[in-house]
Amino acid sequence: MKNYLFSTHAYFDCNATTPVLPVAAEAAQDAMRILYGNPSSSHLVGLQAKYILESTRKTASQVIGADPEEIIFTSGATEAIQTAIFSVLQNIKGQTTRSHLTLLYGATEHKAIPQALQHWVKILNLPLRIFELPVDKNGQIQLKILKEHISSAALLCTMAVNNETGVVQNLLAIEEILIQAGSQTLWLVDCVQALGKLDLNLKSTRINYAPFSGHKLYAPKGIGFLYLKKNSPFTPLIVGGGQENGQRSGTENLPGVAALGAVLEALTHRTNSLLFRSPLELSDFRDQITSELKSAFPKIEFNTPFEQSVSTTINFSIPGFTSSELVDLFDAGGLRLSSGSACNALSVKPSHVLDAMEIPNWRSISALRMSFGPCTSQKEIERGCQIIRDSAVALQNTCLLNSINTFEAPENLRDGILQLRVGSTNTWILAHSQARTCIIIDPCTIVAERIENYVRCQNLKVLAILDTHSHADHESIRPILQKILSDQMEVPFIEEYDRLGWPLHCATSVTQTKLENGNFADAISLTAKSSLENLILARLPTPGHTNDSQTFLVGISQANILKKKDIQFAFSGDTILSGGLGRTNFSISNPESLFYSLRTIHEILSPTTLLCPTHDYNNSFATNIGVESQENPLLSLALSTLTLDTLKLFLEKKKKIDLDLAHIENEFQEIICGVTPSVKSEKEEKTTTSVPSLKDFLLKGNKNSLIIDVREAHEYSMSNSWTSMGFREAPRNVPLSRFVNLMHEFLKSKTKNQNILLICRTGTRSLKAAKSLRRLGFTHVWN
Ligand code: PLP
Repeated sequence: MKNYLFSTHAYFDCNATTPVLPVAAEAAQDAMRILYGNPSSSHLVGLQAKYILESTRKTASQVIGADPEEIIFTSGATEAIQTAIFSVLQNIKGQTTRSHLTLLYGATEHKAIPQALQHWVKILNLPLRIFELPVDKNGQIQLKILKEHISSAALLCTMAVNNETGVVQNLLAIEEILIQAGSQTLWLVDCVQALGKLDLNLKSTRINYAPFSGHKLYAPKGIGFLYLKKNSPFTPLIVGGGQENGQRSGTENLPGVAALGAVLEALTHRTNSLLFRSPLELSDFRDQITSELKSAFPKIEFNTPFEQSVSTTINFSIPGFTSSELVDLFDAGGLRLSSGSACNALSVKPSHVLDAMEIPNWRSISALRMSFGPCTSQKEIERGCQIIRDSAVALQNTCLLNSINTFEAPENLRDGILQLRVGSTNTWILAHSQARTCIIIDPCTIVAERIENYVRCQNLKVLAILDTHSHADHESIRPILQKILSDQMEVPFIEEYDRLGWPLHCATSVTQTKLENGNFADAISLTAKSSLENLILARLPTPGHTNDSQTFLVGISQANILKKKDIQFAFSGDTILSGGLGRTNFSISNPESLFYSLRTIHEILSPTTLLCPTHDYNNSFATNIGVESQENPLLSLALSTLTLDTLKLFLEKKKKIDLDLAHIENEFQEIICGVTPSVKSEKEEKTTTSVPSLKDFLLKGNKNSLIIDVREAHEYSMSNSWTSMGFREAPRNVPLSRFVNLMHEFLKSKTKNQNILLICRTGTRSLKAAKSLRRLGFTHVWN
């Protein structure tokens, strides 16, 4: 591995996996190169392997307080979980009278537990009820509910330490309930995240099954074990050669076992081992990190209840930032951590663990998990703290965070459009750097804080906060934002704006601009009206999706005329989406009006105008009328020769598409504001030329080849190792949030055959950007 990747990083994702300790790697090497025997062989090399196997078993049993016969080596915890659950269910299957028909599990369990329960109940065709036990706000199982269900429970699955929050489950209280109820319930406790962090003495408990995983504690992936209390029901999941006393066949993973043995050996001598930190040191590490986080992000909310958790896990959320944004930022600086939630193309899914603890939705969606390990060094903690500091400064410099008091407004305000995207919903900000003015379009709640920071730190005058229409799927934050920003608003009084935010003083004949088709439109000027290059935003009523839908046209007007060719952007709300049209089956919709609005938009826009919709289900950022009418048969129908039959056919087809939306909404569990009539498979990407090599792009002075880094500016500013990655110079940075400006620049320049290489951290964002350019007809774009 190249050093530059690791020399300056801080690895705070130990709950996902840990590096392998050098002693463990050496032990694995030895087991591969010297002691490579099969433990089942009776010759000396085999006996040596057998010795490693059994001595690791013995050490493991000492570490968890069990007998060596109670340890079964597996490939990891997931296999151990399957084996235990399968055993319990097989046991139930064998019983003639079944009085215990419930399988209980805690709501914050690792997904392997509920999934395995459902899977094996289905496979074995058993009439069992699976019941999720709720937890309280600290992540502790609600004991009252457990008591109510324990008498009918065949199996109870809980965990010792939660992987997302670090919460230590009160196992003693749970055990007390089992004892008091005189219950026969079998008990599985997932101990994966407890190993090396809590003292365990399983023998003295009522626990029947406990899965463990090597790679969560400095051993390699592919090794783990199951603690199986004597006399607990057991059926092997894997049969064959009879290894592990017939309980888990298959030649043992000796290198993994040897490595695990070396780690556990060091752990048993932890007091005089330099590898493992004491509990006090670990708690001090947590204090260092949390105080650094608090000073960098004063509004931070911690989701881990620290008094009831291991010191090594810190789960938190920062208002105004999604988890993936912060993962990207920290990663650019060299701090590796995990997001606590999952994302898909349409929306960000909250964390099931934080949801179960009834943590507010925004925190659940934007949660991050920093997890260090019992062998993390003070040096690494310091490195992590430094990266936290640097990240906050990078966010300050790009006006995304306003926490350092001595902060000075950056001078680098960029002209044009800023796209703040959450899931598939866009908020747009149009800014003019010289005039220091801006207009905010379709603000959505989750980015309110970010908008405020952006406006305040650059001291922008807000000319208007606009909605393209009344939204059905989310509430506009506009009236609240108008109040919050009243000191930055050009006109601070709410009564001076109409119900979609249009400033009343910009709705007079004096402020109107003339469009090329002869019509007049109300307009707001971002620059001084008298200036030659007058950047304006004009509004055009485009009812249909809702009765009040409007499209905002942005361009340079000259002598009070906004020419077609000068319209750079059109904010069309949900009237025209990339790959679809706005739905028209709300009570305030009118499909016939939509038909005519589409024709108006087509008449007014030029091929270089970028349509910027409020929803972007297609990940296209922006689109244009030409591409849309080619790709969307319904739009092209609406734009064809005007006859009554055309209108009738349009209305019939539109009605059917809107009805079909119900299915999609069910799938994604959110209101969909519009969609393509023929969910088109991605256009085949034919390139006429061969793909240039990276070297071609890196050649200095190659004017026809452009490299663009599409990461956000704060992330880009954290990268300082371009040359060590083979770049001659830092590439141009056009963040995805400003990508529409570049799309427009390219459309305007008409050079469709320039070689463009888009780059980012993982290739996901640059791929989206590349596809959106290809969709507009740029064929020489790669990522
Ligand atoms: N249980 C918990 C609590 C975990 O954190 C994990 C891993 O993320 C597992 C089970 C699964 O472990 P393995 O990767 O060894 O299958």
